[in-house]
Amino acid sequence: MLHSTMQDVPLLISRILAHGSTIHGRSTVTTWTGEPEPHRRTFAEIGERAAQLAHALRELGVDEGQPAGTLMWNNAEHVEAYLAIPSMGAVLHTLNLRLPPEQLAYIVNHAADRIILVNGSLLPLLVPLLPHLPRVEHVIVAGPGDRSALDGVAPAVHDYEELIAGRPTRYDWPELDERAPAAMCYTSGTTGDPKGVVYSHRSIYLHSMQVNMTESMGLTDRDTSLVVVPQFHVNAWGLPHSTFMAGVHMLMPDRFLQPAPLAEMIERERPTHAAAVPTIWQGLLAEVTANPRDLTSLDRVTIGGSACPPSLMEAYDKLGVRLCHAWGMTETSPLGTMANPPAGLTAEEEWPYRLTQGRFPAGVEARLTGPGGDIMPWDGESAGELEVRGPWIAAAYYGGPDAEPLRPEDKFSPDGWLKTGDVGTISPDGFLTLTDRAKDVIKSGGEWISSVELENALMAHPDVAEAAVVAVPDEKWGERPLATVVLKEGATTDYAELRAFLGESIAKWQLPERWTIVPTVPKTSVGKFDKKVIRRQYAEGALDITEL
Ligand code: ADP
Repeated sequence: MLHSTMQDVPLLISRILAHGSTIHGRSTVTTWTGEPEPHRRTFAEIGERAAQLAHALRELGVDEGQPAGTLMWNNAEHVEAYLAIPSMGAVLHTLNLRLPPEQLAYIVNHAADRIILVNGSLLPLLVPLLPHLPRVEHVIVAGPGDRSALDGVAPAVHDYEELIAGRPTRYDWPELDERAPAAMCYTSGTTGDPKGVVYSHRSIYLHSMQVNMTESMGLTDRDTSLVVVPQFHVNAWGLPHSTFMAGVHMLMPDRFLQPAPLAEMIERERPTHAAAVPTIWQGLLAEVTANPRDLTSLDRVTIGGSACPPSLMEAYDKLGVRLCHAWGMTETSPLGTMANPPAGLTAEEEWPYRLTQGRFPAGVEARLTGPGGDIMPWDGESAGELEVRGPWIAAAYYGGPDAEPLRPEDKFSPDGWLKTGDVGTISPDGFLTLTDRAKDVIKSGGEWISSVELENALMAHPDVAEAAVVAVPDEKWGERPLATVVLKEGATTDYAELRAFLGESIAKWQLPERWTIVPTVPKTSVGKFDKKVIRRQYAEGALDITEL
């Protein structure tokens, strides 16, 4: 029996921290403050402060394998927590501040967080929850914000800066098992109750390397990344780890996520990369159309989390900003695919590739399971539910401190693949095109209609700001599409014209009969169209429907 002769060094977050804070010690994290000058901190300083934070948390009783929650915006202190908590062997639990309070309380209690790091500006959200969080013993407050609301609350309260001040700037990071838990994130519950995914050191390390590959985001220490995607949303798509690994400067918006400050940040700080969901890019586009700003420093932009409408990509092309479409989910760390076209193509030939969700990297294996359970071919036409597996794909959900991991049948196949709930096709060269979520696809008379295709076609109309299409019950066909449309200011179009416009690119039998104009499309906590809400509004008769 022959054995490998290679060293077996565990892939640990502490190694990413040590590397970034020394080799790339001069790289910076810039946090927007709303003041004339943003706040800047080097990776070397972050490394020292992460060690100080780890000493403090250790003194407060945080042990290996225990969760520590963060309720924070994207900022330097959150990066410190990202690196310190897993490096000391504890588990970083990022809390989604946009969840309804009862879901947030459910998640803190389910994970059994004993410590919560919170930004001062988020205390109005946390304080009313505290009576419902019996296990929380310590609250650590970072950054500006009125602390008086914490007077008399049950857990011990600490100021982040006071807590870490004067502590040793080095920590003897433990040599952990690379399969040990490092971070956890609950799904945002677009299609059900939040479920916890627990990432390992190994999965985060390998995922970070993939993020840094040229075929993915491919950033280096010459880049600055504007990390708009929240650190509480699937580890900000892996950026805090991958940037530390490669010395990429980070530009963190903190709570200034509105289009105007984002536009100002880009013009002043000149990031070369940015990552955000389509709704952010829609808002920014409207802003710079009204108040022009220079966005041309943005050389590559990663857009994902929901489908990027082609019209949005075109609009940014005209501004000299190239959006690169990516697909992923909480369960996939999240990098699943990225739509960098194959080499050697003209801009025109690249276009159809850019509209896909992208190509699978070596670490993500994919297959499509058709309606009858058969594995479908990669021919760009046969549709099925996407299933994936790989070293940064979840194998189960967190069951709770004393429970076994959960492997619901609708999420994991008997042979261990993750069932994504996304429906689509794969081309022979491995480009994924999603046509819908399994739960959103419109099943009309035994045929499938893609809600996403209808939405994209509608959003290409010059009078349409946003459009969401959902399935509604229909006596004859089972289900039919309902189009909910948000019009731009000064729009003059009507339903008949919109329907005719759709007819130019969509088969006649797929065109919606039911239409409604709404002031906004309801969104989930991470900015996706909340189709559950639209379906409910329809069922309750709360929408003013016109039938054509
Ligand atoms: P939730 O399921 O709670 O919304 P996630 O943030 O994990 O939480 O969402 C993952 C889902 O988002 C994917 O399964 C997919 O449906 C959708 N999604 C992500 N990226 C894209 C994309 N580029 N195009 C279309 N859908 C996407």
